[in-house]
Amino acid sequence: MQAQIQTLKPQWSISGAGGSVEPTPFKVYTQRDLDRIAPLARLSEEARFEMRVVSSVLPFRVNQYVIDELIDWDNIPADPVYQLTFPQRGMLAPAHYDRVAELLRSGASKEELARVVDEVRHELNPHPADQMEMNMPRDDEGHRLDGIQHKYRETVLFFPSQGQTCHAYCTFCFRWAQFVGDKELRMASSEAAVLHNYLRTHPEVTDVLFTGGDPMVMKTAHLKSYIEPLLAPEFDHIRTIRIGTKALSFWPHRFVSAEDADGLIELLERVVESGKQLAIMAHYNHWKELDTEVAQAAIRRLRGTGAMIRAQGPLIAHINDDPAVWARLWQKEVELGIVPYYMFVERDTGARNYFEVPLVRAWEIYREAIQQVSGLARTVRGPSMSASPGKVEVQGVAEIAGEKVFVLRFIQGRNPDWVQRPFFAKYDEKATWLNHLKPAFGEEKWFWEDEYAAIREAKLQAAAAA
Ligand code: SF4
Repeated sequence: MQAQIQTLKPQWSISGAGGSVEPTPFKVYTQRDLDRIAPLARLSEEARFEMRVVSSVLPFRVNQYVIDELIDWDNIPADPVYQLTFPQRGMLAPAHYDRVAELLRSGASKEELARVVDEVRHELNPHPADQMEMNMPRDDEGHRLDGIQHKYRETVLFFPSQGQTCHAYCTFCFRWAQFVGDKELRMASSEAAVLHNYLRTHPEVTDVLFTGGDPMVMKTAHLKSYIEPLLAPEFDHIRTIRIGTKALSFWPHRFVSAEDADGLIELLERVVESGKQLAIMAHYNHWKELDTEVAQAAIRRLRGTGAMIRAQGPLIAHINDDPAVWARLWQKEVELGIVPYYMFVERDTGARNYFEVPLVRAWEIYREAIQQVSGLARTVRGPSMSASPGKVEVQGVAEIAGEKVFVLRFIQGRNPDWVQRPFFAKYDEKATWLNHLKPAFGEEKWFWEDEYAAIREAKLQAAAAA
């Protein structure tokens, strides 16, 4: 299997910024191409076999830019971007690893391997936070509107089908299920009309987030077909268009030298000129991603459209569980005109056992990091869990009435009335997710628990009836 190579025409150069962006081919490698990735030759045969095993279950995709410019090959396996993109043995539980390794060693049939891989994937909580059942709206006849998620009143997420891949895959990706070719686990729409019809009938929605995968893998023409109609007066209630992307890190050439980069920039300028807020929700995990000349050129070009770039990313063991890394990342973001926005807690899916960090450690890292940066970088929200009831931030650890507790708050909630009401969990040094926590002060339930159960039940019944 040949690695796929796409040549992108240069249409822009970084004049006056110390050089020019050369035409760069987009060369991508998947599991079948592992033996073609030159620097991997330095690994032992056993280590390469481990990579084959893990990438049989979890998606793997990397491109030449990441390999050449973001990874320090003299520092593997510790290099953070290597951990971020290349499969490691510990990413599978030993029992899962052994099952798949045994089949590969014994030359099992494709069908047998596929059956076992499928079973393992389903044991990895492929759709955390009830995404399939709870977030997808239905039409008047009860049919699920694939590709749309409407969890919080004012914000709709749209998953355009052409954008359900990424320029490389993060090993910790919480949307990994979409990348493994299992149709049952996919949730996307190629119907711009589905989105537009939905928004037409929901005037309470002010924000649309295009997400994936990465919508920036789409051709500009596709992106335009989704976004341009939203500039018409009938969508005046949509005040903000957000685009979630990791292209600024994994393939910044998308914004500076891709064939349709100029068209993309013009489209984004038109959004801003229409009076809507354009927010690029950029995914960063490490300051190394901001260090290359082309990454910084892409940021400058995007900012030139009038878009606001906000940065977010999870706190991940082996990659960025170090206050110094976060402090340097946020400071660098501010220098480049990006607003630090969210530090997420690793989701309860996929290889979470490898990547998770206890909540108390996450909070300590946040606190130590934020103490090192200036006020402009302190816009970032502390460790936040995107759980089914809502986005819950760990605000700190305190001792109240003799009890050690976590102080929590909803940043977003299924019921907006939950937002900003502090609540308390018993301190637990091992807890890594909301469902590990118990209410403090002898309470039997969270203040939101009954209401959430009722909302959940209603959604599940609607899903069952459809
Ligand atoms: S960029 Fe986002 S969607 Fe794409 S692989 Fe990484 S975490 Fe997943």
